[in-house]
Amino acid sequence: MTPASVRVFPVLTMMFLDNVRQASRLRKPVGLAVCLMAGQTGFPSIVSAQQDVPLPRSKPPQTSVQPSAPDASFSNLGENGPDHAVQCQADLKAAGASFNWVVIATEGSCTIADAVELLSVDTGIDLIEFRQKPVLSCNFAALLGRWTGEIAGPVFSAYSGRQLRSVITGPGIVCRNRVGGAKTKVSEHAKGNAIDITGFRLSGKRSVKIGDKNSKSEKRALQALRTSACGYFTTVLGPGANSAHNHHFHVDYAKRGKSYNYRICE
Ligand SMILES: [Zn+2]
Repeated sequence: MTPASVRVFPVLTMMFLDNVRQASRLRKPVGLAVCLMAGQTGFPSIVSAQQDVPLPRSKPPQTSVQPSAPDASFSNLGENGPDHAVQCQADLKAAGASFNWVVIATEGSCTIADAVELLSVDTGIDLIEFRQKPVLSCNFAALLGRWTGEIAGPVFSAYSGRQLRSVITGPGIVCRNRVGGAKTKVSEHAKGNAIDITGFRLSGKRSVKIGDKNSKSEKRALQALRTSACGYFTTVLGPGANSAHNHHFHVDYAKRGKSYNYRICE
């Protein structure tokens, strides 16, 4: 899990906050500057400062630039149809997600279109934050939002009796090859189609970190999350899969062959 920096520009204003009540529950304002971009679509755009969102972290993001693996390169510019953004935003909204729409996200030599900065998921019962604000492909963010609201929140409530407050993640898009190799295939992280989850924050200031000593009920909750994730994502890796995943869940939506039916759940 290499720390990485994410450059986001320009960003189209797309925070879907259903009402002022929801907005007021976000603990931090979105730290982005707003400006109109000449020659763009006419929508007000947002240009963010460079952000560095290493994994894992317990401190606020710092502004610095980390070099990316030189061999990784990916671009999906032009691959999404004109209706994709509209449909995907509707999917995110249906999942209860609040997000910033990113027209083009770049990290190192990787570039993806139709990305989002995922902020939170509101289930109507829980407001589950993504404080690392991972930058993800829109489709993957919608999938992650659904799993978070439909599974993660209820599972912690059922097993631990606590509400899920936030999902602790990596930065989303990271321009690198699989397992950081120089000659391996481009990682799904480089496409914004993967996320590393290191833990969860629950009500009562309780944190559950993957791979740590957790209570019996929390271990059961983590196992339930890991199993359920295979119903949403095409790859799920965690402790025991290999030494690189002893302290986080890796989930992605890699397409293998001609369909998304083949899954790796370890
Ligand atoms: Zn990963």
